[in-house]
Amino acid sequence: MFELSKILRDNIRQLKPYSSARDEFSGEAEVLLDANENPFNQPFNRYPDPYQRKLKDKIAGLKGVDSSSIFLGNGSDEPIDLLFRACCKPGVDNVVTIAPTYGMYQVAADINAVEVRKVLLTEDFQLDVDALLSAVDENTKMIFLCSPNNPTGNVLDQQEMLKIIGQFNGIVVVDEAYIDFAPSTSLLGLLSRYPNLVVLQTFSKAWGMAGIRLGMAFASDEIIQVLSKIKYPYNLNMLTQEKAMELLDHSDEMNRWVEVLLHERRKMEMEMIDFPFVEKIYPSDANFILIKVHDLKGIYDYLVDEKIIIRDRSKVELCEGCLRISIGSSEENQQLVEALKALI
Ligand code: PMP
Repeated sequence: MFELSKILRDNIRQLKPYSSARDEFSGEAEVLLDANENPFNQPFNRYPDPYQRKLKDKIAGLKGVDSSSIFLGNGSDEPIDLLFRACCKPGVDNVVTIAPTYGMYQVAADINAVEVRKVLLTEDFQLDVDALLSAVDENTKMIFLCSPNNPTGNVLDQQEMLKIIGQFNGIVVVDEAYIDFAPSTSLLGLLSRYPNLVVLQTFSKAWGMAGIRLGMAFASDEIIQVLSKIKYPYNLNMLTQEKAMELLDHSDEMNRWVEVLLHERRKMEMEMIDFPFVEKIYPSDANFILIKVHDLKGIYDYLVDEKIIIRDRSKVELCEGCLRISIGSSEENQQLVEALKALI
């Protein structure tokens, strides 16, 4: 049985959070003399809403969840770090994750002096459920999964993820940063069934808002309350909140971008197949592809000379000889393809 109180660090369970001026009053005010703000330079003189109520309501409508199950952060990297700080005792606790995967789980763990137990994906980049569950011991507080996974690009099998969520008594974080590009559905709809599930999503990818830094964690009210208690009081600035309110009205545009990018991805895959130095193109459910090449360094350096930057993932587990390529605009993709054609 999952019990959040057993997962939390004692100091976090007992923490009395900072109470900001705006925490203690909500409603319509005429004169605000409570927060030592400057009356000039409106509207930037005021602190933003610490709970981002309007933005959460809007996101709740968009995602079909309650506002109380949403945490908003400075990118989804913020809730990743907060989860470590809430749950893992430095030097004592550990987390289990897949390999290869997104690098920030390891970095956040290292910052918090927490051991990461990495379990290799299978050859076709799927979960080895038994190996993952056997890596768990009494100090394992969280399991991190990422679907579609970065850098492999594929979605993880949903039934296998559910086995892990169902059998593990700690928190399972499923990072869905690229879910809008994937044919399979999000695990968001299963939140009420799994009190130990945290789903991460972001506005940095399909929504094209990486610059405003806005990430989301969805979980039980209980978990969201803990994250909200330990975050910086004003973690999302006013400009981000306002810009997001405006951009979220354009979900039709986001859907169109996704269609275009998926089309561009297929085009890129077709072009790449014909290059003699491309050994393999891994199936992708995201806005990037992973390819295995001969002479990786030669190709990478040549593209840098051409001022085209892609990502060398060859040092990552199971990704020897692999490059990760983001799908850009039609013109950008064409520029890459033309540059590679010159190598033949
Ligand atoms: N999760 C995954 C799997 C990612 O690849 C990335 C960004 N590369 C993130 C999270 C971070 O997203 P954000 O911009 O919301 O911090």
